[in-house]
Amino acid sequence: MARKMMIAGNWKMNGLSTDGVNLAKEVAAAVKAKKRDCEFVVCPPFTILALVKKALRGAKVALGGQDCHFEEKGAHTGDISPLMLTDLGCSYVILGHSERRADHGESDELVCKKAVAAHKSGLKTIICIGETLQQRDEGKTIDVCSKQILGSVPECADAKNTVIAYEPVWAIGTGKTPTAQDVEDVHAAVRKVLAKKLGRAQANKMRILYGGSVKPNNAKELLALPDVDGALIGGASLKSADFMAIADNAGC
Ligand code: PEP
Repeated sequence: MARKMMIAGNWKMNGLSTDGVNLAKEVAAAVKAKKRDCEFVVCPPFTILALVKKALRGAKVALGGQDCHFEEKGAHTGDISPLMLTDLGCSYVILGHSERRADHGESDELVCKKAVAAHKSGLKTIICIGETLQQRDEGKTIDVCSKQILGSVPECADAKNTVIAYEPVWAIGTGKTPTAQDVEDVHAAVRKVLAKKLGRAQANKMRILYGGSVKPNNAKELLALPDVDGALIGGASLKSADFMAIADNAGC
């Protein structure tokens, strides 16, 4: 089953106007020079989405938000609606990142509600799942990820509007990664759960990204795994050379 490789950057809470625009311009120029058909996405902070959109003009790099509310508008101080993201030119939104789950107490149920709203507004979702170190040590990785998939991925999800990102919490920003075999085992298990939930056809077409300390020097091994369809990249997406070296090593 051929699934288009995705290279997605999560800039998190990094980037002021000037450096964000410069980074976007560098990525845009590098992607324009690429021949292979991979999908590139960058997810800057809300504050510079419009500037980054402008800086990406003419390059096949999609824009994404890092979160959204489940309502279109209303009395939700400090929140951003899916419609606001589409209005700024976003086509993707990351949902259920472990930092949102930890810092803002986001549950599977809430992530699912947000995903439904995002899809309604025409956004594609990158839904994140992943186990903590304690859960891994207790041998609960597959159970935890399966539960997150069942609870966070809505019934309206399909391979066109949804991408899954498996991000072990203990691997994010730490320089540690699971072994390639562990990554493949989790991705294959996640695909099985997706098949139960959405049917085999959608599960086989749906992309499952790996995220957690992806760097140029480990990208080749991790992104060559059969059930790994790309990467969600945090720290290394803040340097265009590293971001593009990961893409190169993934064959993009
Ligand atoms: C992330 O936050 O989505 C992530 C994968 O971060 P890092 O690449 O820095 O581990």
